[in-house]
Amino acid sequence: MKSIYDMSYKQMEDWAESKGWKKFRVQQIFRWLYKERVEDFDAMTNLSKETRAELKKDFNFNPLTLVRKQESKDGTTKFLFRTEDNHLLESVMMVFDYGNSICVSSQVGCNMGCAFCASGLTKKSRNLTSAEMTAQVMHVQKALDAKGERLSHIVVMGTGEPFDNYDNVLNFIQTVNHDRGLAIGSRHITISTSGIVPKIRTFAEGHYQYNLAISLHAPNDELRTQIMPVNKAYPLKELMSAVEYYTSLNNRRLTFEYILLKGVNDSLEQARELARLLRPYCCYVNLIPYNSVDEHGFQSTTREEAMKFYDILKKEGIAVTIRKEHGSDIDAACGQLRIKEMKKEDALRLLSQKEETSGIPGKDPEIENVYDSEYAEDDMPASEPSEPADACKVK
Ligand code: SF4
Repeated sequence: MKSIYDMSYKQMEDWAESKGWKKFRVQQIFRWLYKERVEDFDAMTNLSKETRAELKKDFNFNPLTLVRKQESKDGTTKFLFRTEDNHLLESVMMVFDYGNSICVSSQVGCNMGCAFCASGLTKKSRNLTSAEMTAQVMHVQKALDAKGERLSHIVVMGTGEPFDNYDNVLNFIQTVNHDRGLAIGSRHITISTSGIVPKIRTFAEGHYQYNLAISLHAPNDELRTQIMPVNKAYPLKELMSAVEYYTSLNNRRLTFEYILLKGVNDSLEQARELARLLRPYCCYVNLIPYNSVDEHGFQSTTREEAMKFYDILKKEGIAVTIRKEHGSDIDAACGQLRIKEMKKEDALRLLSQKEETSGIPGKDPEIENVYDSEYAEDDMPASEPSEPADACKVK
């Protein structure tokens, strides 16, 4: 059965029409879902018993169960969820001066294979449904309801490549953006892609008001191909041509995300090269401090080096910011909480298989290592919504 969170307003209207219902029914249903935030059709008290029965026949509610929540001193909160078919996924809520922002996952695992990324450590099992993305947002909004606060920004920058799940991501965004949905403003919603060129072009043609961010992370093809395999399929020349196409159709500034990796992409010469690459485009650069992932050998650039990199871009006329670190006292890089929980569950499964075959409850040292390493203290990155993508004059 389908979750009702899968339905955009328009889809719900079509469904209601197929039942011969008046349009205002959909207004009522959306109000219960996204303003009152009930999770039970029987709580929709201004709908008749028959109407509720029809809804129950076709839909269920929240497709995610909360497994774990970790809260940092700075308010950053990680949510680990389980899907109905037993996959784990995570979302992060961050607190900024301008509001609360959620970083949403769009896939279970990721096939893009970026060399520095915890989320890419497991291959994609499947795309998330639009309901599973909406449910991440609803869980976080409900946690905020308890404090009388609301989510103001969404970034689709968690596990997964959103443009590899294009239709579901767009459907999800339309629901949370809709006035009768969560009413999160278009300019407060950012989709971040590793650079799937054909989908950047498709997105450009949609003339959406949502922000577009591109994970760049290298100033030239040679390095980008080493750390981001997507560059083999869509090298910089093609990527930049898609960027130009996007800005020409949308008259909007886009963001380039650049994770600073010590000794890999953070030299001053690379800063100059990056400035040369980006100067012709209407964009700004978001420099991101790296948070280490046990399984990868990369290290974070020091604050001092990051500032030098920043200064060069600035001097070269590139609009640039350095992302503030969030949640450094809780579980690590994007996707890492999920990986650790998966290891723990695998270890427990192995342990119970061993016990079943030997009949002796006991500990396997190899398994114990994995289990004990859970929730070691790491730094954690935080996806941050891009600055509002101001309209820009495209030459
Ligand atoms: S950085 Fe994004 S696109 Fe790359 S592997 Fe990680 S989740 Fe996938």
